[in-house]
Amino acid sequence: RRGLSIRGAQRRYVKETAALAGADLDLEPGKITALLGPSGSGKSTLLRAIAGLERLDGGEIRLGDTVWAGPGRHLAPERRRVGMVFQDYALFPHLDALANVAFGLKGPDAKTIAMAQLEAAELGHKAKAFPHELSGGEQQRVALARALAPAPAIVLLDEPFSGLDRRLRQELRERTVDTLRRAGATALMVTHDADEAMAVADALALMDQGRVIQTGTPEHVWTHP
Ligand code: ADP
Ligand code: ADP
Repeated sequence: RRGLSIRGAQRRYVKETAALAGADLDLEPGKITALLGPSGSGKSTLLRAIAGLERLDGGEIRLGDTVWAGPGRHLAPERRRVGMVFQDYALFPHLDALANVAFGLKGPDAKTIAMAQLEAAELGHKAKAFPHELSGGEQQRVALARALAPAPAIVLLDEPFSGLDRRLRQELRERTVDTLRRAGATALMVTHDADEAMAVADALALMDQGRVIQTGTPEHVWTHP
């Protein structure tokens, strides 16, 4: 499997400040990387750039030898094989859980694959429930199931536990890591919470002012601040 490589990523929304100011990051295949940094440091922009929802003004993003974004190149989001879990889950309110998970799937097996993914999340019994009929924790699990269903190359999670209370956070954190590991997913997870990053991640990346200023194992980053 191939890792994701980001080199010199630049993105400027307004003249004065760059949201991304030459960010470099490597995601190793099958590993969970936590992305930490103060508010406004560019974490969401980096995720959106990886997903293809944001264009780069400079630099490059590639998966193995395939250039996703670079000079004169912007691969469409649907061709990048990226799964995304948004902070507010962004489930489709008019679709039931099964249809939400099946949304990105094509072909005659879509429903079967989606159902298997829901069952893996222990939510098979909620297949016909609409998002407003699910608890916050269940919505998060459906969102993760939807992100993983097309077997993406990269899974992006933007503060996936932020809307949840402390007890549920802990439980879902363990469940999410377990699910990502069983899928062998290459994941990048934004979090504000250093303890959470330590608990879930194989690698940490610290962002500040549009750059990745430090990377390493949790232990390394922790002991070399
Ligand atoms: P983080 O996720 O780390 O909080 P963001 O990527 O959201 O950081 O933001 C990085 C910078 O880009 C901030 O200065 C923010 O105000 C700015 N920014 C983000 N999105 C937009 C946008 N759509 N238009 C203008 N500025 C934006
Ligand atoms: P959790 O176990 O994640 O803390 P809750 O205690 O909020 O969740 O919900 C318990 C159960 O009630 C869940 O199975 C959930 O699907 C169901 N539920 C919660 N809100 C609603 C609702 N508005 N309509 C129908 N079912 C609901």
